[in-house]
Amino acid sequence: MAWFRRGISAMRSLHASELLPPGFSAVDALSDGDSTVITIRATSALSACPSCGAISDRVHSRYPRRLADLPIAGQRVVLVLHARRFCCDALRCARRIFTERFDDNILKPWARRTARLDQIVHCLALALGGRPAASFARRLSMPVSNDTLLRAVRRRGSPSFAPPAIIGIDDWAWRRNQRYGTLICDLERRKTIALLPDREPATAEAWLTSQPQIAVVARDRGGGYAMATQKALPNAVQVADRWHLMENASHAFLDAVRKSMRQIRAAIGATTINPALLTAAEKLQYEGYLRREEANAAILAMAKDGATIREIVRRTGYSRGLTRKVLRGQRSDMFRVRSSSLEAYLPWLDEQWAAGRRNGSELWRSLKRQGFRGCLRVVSEWSGRRRRSEKMDASAISRTPSARTIARLMTIGRDRLSKAETVTVAAIESGVELLVEAREIVADFQAMIRRKAPAELDPWIERAKTSLVAGFANGVTKDKAAVSAAISSGWSNGQAEGQICKLKLVKRQMYGRGKLDLLQARVIGAT
Ligand SMILES: [Zn+2]
Repeated sequence: MAWFRRGISAMRSLHASELLPPGFSAVDALSDGDSTVITIRATSALSACPSCGAISDRVHSRYPRRLADLPIAGQRVVLVLHARRFCCDALRCARRIFTERFDDNILKPWARRTARLDQIVHCLALALGGRPAASFARRLSMPVSNDTLLRAVRRRGSPSFAPPAIIGIDDWAWRRNQRYGTLICDLERRKTIALLPDREPATAEAWLTSQPQIAVVARDRGGGYAMATQKALPNAVQVADRWHLMENASHAFLDAVRKSMRQIRAAIGATTINPALLTAAEKLQYEGYLRREEANAAILAMAKDGATIREIVRRTGYSRGLTRKVLRGQRSDMFRVRSSSLEAYLPWLDEQWAAGRRNGSELWRSLKRQGFRGCLRVVSEWSGRRRRSEKMDASAISRTPSARTIARLMTIGRDRLSKAETVTVAAIESGVELLVEAREIVADFQAMIRRKAPAELDPWIERAKTSLVAGFANGVTKDKAAVSAAISSGWSNGQAEGQICKLKLVKRQMYGRGKLDLLQARVIGAT
């Protein structure tokens, strides 16, 4: 136990007043189990007049001042200070009476909390935001309101930052599609250093001008930040942001898919219909569709070989109007809209179905009483189809997937596709060759960024210029120096993206009170 005694011998007995902020002594203390009320007074007999600085020891009167302080042993603490008013006896001082003053680091003139409690409140507000901090503070036995916490953050203003050399600049949404701000990130220190209230080039330019030491700016290819950087920091190296480049490339492929939807539909149309799910009438239509598709293909093939419309009409026997329609790509509808004998009664049938009356022959009898002339088969087929469609899961419904889905299916690995997806992708790949080319070009671009191989940029542009992603290639050409710098340098706003996520989180915690100064203080100040 020697270590214990040695520890004890270094200690001394503790006086209750030492638990108080310096300069005060305890008069007495009461506890009701929840909170402790400590009556205190200042130890100094003197105080300085805030107007003239003269020291006075002449007490005019006393009044109680309630102050919240740090909790003791899990209980909230209220200090009741017997505060004094002093008389100022200086001849030329206009002030006759003043209340006693303390060091600002201990107790500010009008504060209702001791400075040391205020410090903790500020830290909590920075770390957690208004309301979450308020409930946490309650658990820590130092109740403060949401507003008090936000005020504590606001009062201390924006924290300072070390002058950055390499920054990323990006926009972020105050409100989606409505209002945007600008976020600036120190890419070396991996830290947000500024939030600007909008994304105007002039605003960014003003900020950048104040930081002439910046050597590298990673920015998107939108143009606004490029211009601002060019004006404010003409000698800084501009780097197209790698993260955005990867994104842009993926988006270019998605656009290529969108442009090819008609060809895609034609390529997979025949494979996605599941004939087993069709009714007799639909089967007839489907067979008609297949026949039409055959005719379409024949007409298109002849046109490709250079046949005129007149020739095609002569050789196939199809009408001139139809041939023209096919050549314009206007005849690839799956099911022609055909008025069915049931059509007029569909709203009524749907109502019955929803109400649980689902027996085909009963429905047919009711329909007949309403004047329906069709046979029972039409109605029972309709009800059978309704039943099946309710059982079918979404993936079994024979429809062409969306462009976004197709883009995803075509770019994830084959081994991650289901059997049905593999069939779809194979149909697209064999039917729409330009899309396969576009996919390779986009993949090569992304590989070039990952490998940091700027020498490949020029040949890549040559190849992409004539592909489905030519628009993207043009954009890259216009911003070539920055793209090249992006490929060879490692700086990326991917970080800034991370910071923007954090910002969103903070914004949410502020419950709509996300004023810029508060966001600034919380995002930049909290470490
Ligand atoms: Zn005075």
